[in-house]
Amino acid sequence: MIENLLTFIRRMPKAELHLHLEGTIRPETALELMRRNNSPSLPEQPDQIKNLYRFRNLAEFVNSMRSVTNNIRFLEDLQKITLEMLTSLAIQNVKYVEFDCAVQKYIDMGYTLKEVVESIYQTVVEFQADHDIAVKMVVNIQRLYGGKEAIQLIEKIALLNHPFIVGIGLSGDEAKYPPDLFTEAFLLAQQLDLHRTAHAGEAVGPKSVWNALKCLNVERIDHGTRAIEDPDLVDHLSRHKIPLTQCLTSNLRLNVVKKINDHPFYTFYKKGIPVSLNTDDPQIFNTELTQEYILAAEIYQLDKQDLENLVMNGLRAAFLPDEEKSQIITEVCSEFRTLSNDEGDHHE
Ligand SMILES: [Zn+2]
Repeated sequence: MIENLLTFIRRMPKAELHLHLEGTIRPETALELMRRNNSPSLPEQPDQIKNLYRFRNLAEFVNSMRSVTNNIRFLEDLQKITLEMLTSLAIQNVKYVEFDCAVQKYIDMGYTLKEVVESIYQTVVEFQADHDIAVKMVVNIQRLYGGKEAIQLIEKIALLNHPFIVGIGLSGDEAKYPPDLFTEAFLLAQQLDLHRTAHAGEAVGPKSVWNALKCLNVERIDHGTRAIEDPDLVDHLSRHKIPLTQCLTSNLRLNVVKKINDHPFYTFYKKGIPVSLNTDDPQIFNTELTQEYILAAEIYQLDKQDLENLVMNGLRAAFLPDEEKSQIITEVCSEFRTLSNDEGDHHE
């Protein structure tokens, strides 16, 4: 790739919408938590640390993830992970991040939703004192807890009424827990003015995307990759401008696509579906947002205007209140103009 484009990608403002807090734990931090907990999964040799995130299939991925996240025991652990996540994002010039957190696990451990949200929020506010980054949280509803627990969690979110929380997401085993189990929960969320997204079209085909739209009335889809298998669905997503938060490396590592060139990302983009680039679980997949942009630019021969369009797709799909959203969009637009002028590029 030409150096000029690489520099542009590194410097350009970015947005990240599909990011799981638990997928941002650095192997070194995981090791530290394991040591403190005298964890049985603690690697014997320090150089085996990278094996923590080595997996060959979905089952191994789930195990890998679990062996690390099981070592989160205290609110301070969440704060440390949050701080490391934000530090990495700020270095990449991410201007807006909407990450999710699987709070149900911590509530099971005896913490209240308020304690979890407040401790993360405190870290965010402290970080923002020195960094120009807007941050919001989406509460991740895990499918395996079922529909009733989802409703209870949404009631707790409503009671807490924290401006840091902008919506809910749904993740976990798509095949075993289809969207219709959560219809009531998502309807309640909608009535409470919470924004809604769901993972779909990753492990299960187009049906899961159709059902997320029909049963859950989601505003955007996390992944949505396998929508490509149904031309009518691709048409629907394009016509209704339904955003897809796409994660190229994640889809490759979890075999949603066999080869990166098979990924439908560019087809979606060309059809006018508002796709954005995201990392999902950057530490687990050994990637970062800048890397995802470099990868996409290389494979699809993207130019600067394409890259800006993708960032803007992400920002427009954000669950921010309108005023905050248009302010960030204005700032990011102006940063793109400055960047282009600096490089003497007049978008010929
Ligand atoms: Zn995800």
